[in-house]
Amino acid sequence: MIYDYMPVSTVDYPGKIATTVFISGCNFRCPYCHNSSIIVPKPARYSPEDILRYLARRKNLIDGVCITGGEPTLWKGLKSLMAQIKSSGFSVKLDTNGSRPDVLEDIIAKGLVDYIAMDVKAPLEGYRTFLTRVSDVEKVCISVDMIKAAGIDYEFRTTVHPKLLSIDDIKKIGSWLKGAKKYVLQGYRYSPDILDPEFCGREFCERAYLDKAKEAVDEYFEQVIIRE
Ligand code: SF4
Repeated sequence: MIYDYMPVSTVDYPGKIATTVFISGCNFRCPYCHNSSIIVPKPARYSPEDILRYLARRKNLIDGVCITGGEPTLWKGLKSLMAQIKSSGFSVKLDTNGSRPDVLEDIIAKGLVDYIAMDVKAPLEGYRTFLTRVSDVEKVCISVDMIKAAGIDYEFRTTVHPKLLSIDDIKKIGSWLKGAKKYVLQGYRYSPDILDPEFCGREFCERAYLDKAKEAVDEYFEQVIIRE
């Protein structure tokens, strides 16, 4: 269900001016989640038609649409919304936790997505902290392989803080994702809205730690980016 949208964003879709659409409902429980208010599905506040009407009015300004959440692949209306956005002439980026590879497969096969950003939370053995269902780990693995082979633009990204992941953990993620085009290290940022403010505390991740993390994984990827 479409809970909200940000009319103009310059940071959610690399290289594009985008509208960001928020879908409520998520099957993960990441302690650092900044969208914790929409982890539980909420009644729709906007319809797909509302979004399409807005896009039609701003066609000269907006290049693409970023669909984020929550976890958008849990929403039944996702493919139809993506198809309508694409046929209106906009690029589509999808943010996902990778837990629904069947949905990703269909979206990729139908050419409904131009860019996928998949969160990789931890090395496989550390995923338990983020999940409500342990069986989702296998699905995350399938999604990683599928996205690497899809022939579209993509990034894998990990939120970094010393209390969340050691440098060794980050190296294990690098080794798992090896050969991927783009890997993004995002520094943890505190905000009063995050799901569990006690987990990592109020200190942002320091730049020096992100630099160390980058050094540990540079060899595995074509490009490693730090986002603070
Ligand atoms: S997967 Fe994303 S939306 Fe879901 S709990 Fe984690 S950070 Fe929040």
